[in-house]
Amino acid sequence: MRDQVNGQSGKQYTLSQSIPYVGVGLHTGKKVSMVIQPNPEATGIYFMRSDVPRGQGLVLARWYNVVDTYLSTVLGNEYGVTVSTVEHLLAALHGCGIDHAIIRIDGPEVPIMDGSAEPFVSTLTQTGIVPVAAQRNGIWIFKPVEVREGDRFAILVPSARPRMTVSIDFPDTMVGTQALSVDINQAVFMKEIAPARTFGFNDQLEALRRRGFAKGGTLRNAVLVDGDRVANREGLRYADEFVRHKVLDCIGDLSLAGGPILGDYYAHKPGHNLNIALVNKLFAQREKWSYVSIDDMESLQRSRWTRHLEERSRTPVRSAYSLPRSGNRLRG
Ligand SMILES: [Zn+2]
Repeated sequence: MRDQVNGQSGKQYTLSQSIPYVGVGLHTGKKVSMVIQPNPEATGIYFMRSDVPRGQGLVLARWYNVVDTYLSTVLGNEYGVTVSTVEHLLAALHGCGIDHAIIRIDGPEVPIMDGSAEPFVSTLTQTGIVPVAAQRNGIWIFKPVEVREGDRFAILVPSARPRMTVSIDFPDTMVGTQALSVDINQAVFMKEIAPARTFGFNDQLEALRRRGFAKGGTLRNAVLVDGDRVANREGLRYADEFVRHKVLDCIGDLSLAGGPILGDYYAHKPGHNLNIALVNKLFAQREKWSYVSIDDMESLQRSRWTRHLEERSRTPVRSAYSLPRSGNRLRG
């Protein structure tokens, strides 16, 4: 398709009409009403807290507005107004190709819905999208950018065909080691990633609640791991639902860069803190990437440089970032 590169459209989009949601916050346990509205002005994705004094409720969904990453990604503004657990909703908007929206919300936390991005994705796809008068630029990675913390890492590397490869390790639990490698495109996102639910461990729940977290968590909005079994009667949606949810979180966090990242993402034991640190480092290392229009990207893909990358990607370079193998590895 003429205006599609790596599944990315050269146009930018907003949704065609408003969509209302009602739900509870996973951590606050508070009931919230939320409406995702079109933003035809093409000024990005904004949260708008309707329960705070007029003029103080606007928060732009960008990495530099992240104020906390403990258990969820929290955005805030100069008035101390915050919106937490934004990652699943932002992943859904990004995955549905929506660049511009105003998210009106009457409380401090995005509703958790069923713990996945699926309820957002299904309503957004039913509603449909409309183009706005703005071209979409990709963030073309041409030198590796990485962050490490102990044995955890998150890396962006040049790639002619962007993929996300994530591994997690929860020893002594039924989650164990899981790894997943997927192409970054809308079809894979909707089918393989969006339905994966958030998860927690029964033996940590009491401590979390004493500290004021997970107050809204139930078996209807999270997978609860209890020793070597899943407490939810319906079981898992995928055998490797845990690592798929981690990929979902990573897509939401990386979308705070404000445009599609045209490079491979590799991460071991990623979390919101590591992802936000990676995006901060990316923007601090201006010599390692460039904004490109989709037209530029097309000529880049025809270039010798990209053919070189493609050849390289078939063999050695990936082994430097290879991850533990798992039986659930997916080649999207
Ligand atoms: Zn999550």
